[in-house]
Amino acid sequence: MSNTALATKTSLYNDVSAALQAIGVDPSTLDGEIKTRSPLTGETLLFLPKHTAEDVEAAIDRADEAFRTWRDVPAPVRGTVVKRWGELLTEHKRDLAILVQAEAGKSISEAEGEVQEMIDICDFAVGQSRMLYGQTMPSERPGHRLMETWHPLGVVGVISAFNFPVAVYSWNTALALICGDSVVWKPSEMVALSALGAHTLLARAIEEQDAPAEIIQLVLTDRYAAEKLLDDPRVPLISATGSTRMGREVGPRVAARFGKTILELGGNNAAIVTPDADLDLALRGIVFAAAGTAGQRCTTMRRVIVHESIAEELTEKLVSAYQTLTIGDPRDEQILVGPLINESGFQGMQDALKAATEQGGTVITGGNRVLEDEFPEAYYVEPAIVTMPAQTDIVRDETFAPILYVLTYSTLEEAIALQNDVPQGLSSAIFTENQREAELFVSASGSDCGIANVNIGTSGAEIGGAFGGEKETGGGRESGSDSWKSYMRRATNTVNYSGELPLAQGVKFL
Ligand code: NAD
Repeated sequence: MSNTALATKTSLYNDVSAALQAIGVDPSTLDGEIKTRSPLTGETLLFLPKHTAEDVEAAIDRADEAFRTWRDVPAPVRGTVVKRWGELLTEHKRDLAILVQAEAGKSISEAEGEVQEMIDICDFAVGQSRMLYGQTMPSERPGHRLMETWHPLGVVGVISAFNFPVAVYSWNTALALICGDSVVWKPSEMVALSALGAHTLLARAIEEQDAPAEIIQLVLTDRYAAEKLLDDPRVPLISATGSTRMGREVGPRVAARFGKTILELGGNNAAIVTPDADLDLALRGIVFAAAGTAGQRCTTMRRVIVHESIAEELTEKLVSAYQTLTIGDPRDEQILVGPLINESGFQGMQDALKAATEQGGTVITGGNRVLEDEFPEAYYVEPAIVTMPAQTDIVRDETFAPILYVLTYSTLEEAIALQNDVPQGLSSAIFTENQREAELFVSASGSDCGIANVNIGTSGAEIGGAFGGEKETGGGRESGSDSWKSYMRRATNTVNYSGELPLAQGVKFL
C-alpha cells in the first residue's frame, strides 16, 4: 500500500506530515505494509515499511559490529551523543508530541510531558556518563587490591508498548548508550511514526557527534519477527515493556539462553484513603491518576481502598469530579480525556464492566461510549467508577481502560493487605496526614510495590528514581537511581602487587 493512495488529506494528516518533515522525515518517501492509525479519529495516517525476521537479524549484525567500536569510546565522550539528542528533543518537543498525540491519543500537555521525560533522562544520563563508579574493597591479602569495574554489555534489545511510544525508548537508550551498548529497538507497530521521529533525532545526534551510525537500529515489525531478538545470544539484555502476557513469553525464552531481561509489565495500582487524609488533595490525585490518559498508563490508578467512615463522602466527590471531565479529541486543549487506543481496548472495558457487575459491583458513573456519531471509527468513553463489595477476580485483573474500583476497609492493616493482594506490584499510594500511617505504608510490612507514594497519586513518576514493579509487573527497574547497572557487566578484579602468591582463605598449595 502506498501513501499516495490515501485519498483525503485531513488536518490531522497535515499536522503529522508537517511534524515529520520538521524532524527530518519526508513522509512522501514512506511506503509499505505497516498502517498507522490515529485513535483520535480512527483514520489511517501513513504507511511505513515493515521489517522481516531477516531484517531484524541484519540489524543485530550491524548493532553487534558497531558495539565493538562504541565500547571503547570513553563514557563521557559517549555522553556527548546523548547530550545532543536532548538538545534536539528540546528543539523538536512540539513536533514529536504531535506524533505521540496523533498515535497514542494523549492531550498535548501529556504528549509534551512524555518528550520532556526524554529530555530529562538525557540530562541524567549525560551526568551518569561521568559516574559509572565501581567500588574498591579491602583485600584480605597483603599487597593485593580488590576492585570492581563496569564494562559495556553488548547489544540491548528494547521492546516497547503503545502507551508510552517514545519515553520508554529513551529511558533505556540514553542509559544504554552512555554505558557503551548498542540498541535494537522494536516499538509497538501502533506508534511507528512516533518511533521513527524519536529514532531520526537520535540518528542525527549520532551523525553530528561522529559516533558510529549503526549503534542504534530501529526495526518496525510485529512480535513474530521481533522474536529473533529474544533468541540471539549476541543480545545479552532484552528490556521489554508491555503486558504481563508478553512478559510471560519473553522472560522464559530469553532466560533459556541465559540472557538477561528488564521486564516492565502490567500494573494494578491502588490508593488507600484514610480518615486522616486531606480529601480535596486526595480527590485531585485520584482523578488525575484514574482518568488521565484515558486510563492507559501502566501506573493508572485502578483501585481506591477507602476507610468505611469516609467512603460515601469520597465517592460522592469522585462522581461529581468525574461529571466535570471533558471527553473528546484532545487536539482541543480544553479536553482532559482522549480516546481509547482502539476497538479492542473499548471491548476490554465493556467486558470488564459486565464482569464487575456480575461479581456484585455497581457502576455508579461512566462506562458509556460517547461521540460515536462524530467519530464512528474512534473509541471515546466516559471514565467509570465501580463500587465493589470485595476484591473479586475482575478487580485483580489489569483492564487497560479508565475503570476505577472502589473498595472499603476498616483497619489500615486490612487496607494494606487488600492493596497487596493482587498479582501485580507496580505503583501504590496512601493519602493521609497521619505520619504513623504513612510510615507503615512505606515500611517493609507496607506496600509491596516498586513505587509507594504518600499524598500523591500512583502515576506520573519522575525520571530520577528507579521505575518498575514486583510480582507480575516483572521486577525490572529502568530510568534513574542505579538502574544504569543493568546495562553493564561487572568484573571483579584482584590485583596482586606483593611479589608473593598468598591464596585466599589461607589455603596452602605447592
Ligand atoms: P503488548 O504486550 O501487547 O505489546 C508490547 C510490545 O511487546 C509490543 O511492541 C509488541 O509487539 C511486543 N510483543 C508482544 N508479544 C511479544 C513477543 N512474544 N515477543 C516479542 N515482542 C512481543 O502491550 P501494549 O498493549 O502495547 O501495552 C499495554 C501494556 O503495557 C499494559 O499492560 C501496560 O501496563 C504495560 N506497560 C507497562 C509499563 C511498565 O513500565 N511497567 C509501561 C507501559 C506499558
